[in-house]
Amino acid sequence: MKTIGLIGGMSWESSSEYYRILNEEVKQRLGGLHSAKCILYSVDFEEIENCQRNGEWGKAGEILTDAARSLELAGADLIVICTNTMHKVANEIQSGIRIPLLHIADVTAKQVLLNGINTIGLLGTRYTMEQDFYKSLLEAQGIKVLVPKETDRVIVNTVIYNELCQGQIIDESRARYKRIIQDLIREGAAGIILGCTEIGLLVKAEDSSVPLFDTTLLHAKGAVNLALE
Ligand code: GLU
Repeated sequence: MKTIGLIGGMSWESSSEYYRILNEEVKQRLGGLHSAKCILYSVDFEEIENCQRNGEWGKAGEILTDAARSLELAGADLIVICTNTMHKVANEIQSGIRIPLLHIADVTAKQVLLNGINTIGLLGTRYTMEQDFYKSLLEAQGIKVLVPKETDRVIVNTVIYNELCQGQIIDESRARYKRIIQDLIREGAAGIILGCTEIGLLVKAEDSSVPLFDTTLLHAKGAVNLALE
């Protein structure tokens, strides 16, 4: 089994989900007392969020590349960045290490296509929904990406940073997400990407009439696939 290197802490609420899923998945596939070989480098999210807000992506990239190098030195065979948003600097991180980085959007796009879906709704931070670094990878695979309208993007983003990343799961916010998901479906989305690693804590399959693609689950399972190859 290969050792999975996790760059986490963004937020730790979702990193702990990665840890749980990796172990459950390895146990399910190998049985017995098997568990995932992994190393977690957990950053201080306040520092990263400051970089995001100030547009200091280069600085954030350096912090995360240092983390990836530490994981490589510690014996990791592959790297997983436990957040969609910080894949904005995925190329920079990959060029700073010799081991492969498993890109969350690649894993997700593959699953969307496997389900025969070519128009998808995307929920995530405002960076993920509005900038190109993430959507362009899906579009390159022939997937049409719909995002909520501006006022709804503000709601989705605010719930992520002010609630989910701080461990608060609020019914009223789930209801708002459900309404936003319905609007995307009405516009033509045949599936919804939970493109932020905390959204799966709030929204479950029963909250949507179309399939949900939980990036945390898909990414962690993809990492186990590679580790057990
Ligand atoms: N975990 C979130 C994501 O998947 C948001 C936190 C962050 O900005 O990294 O995008």
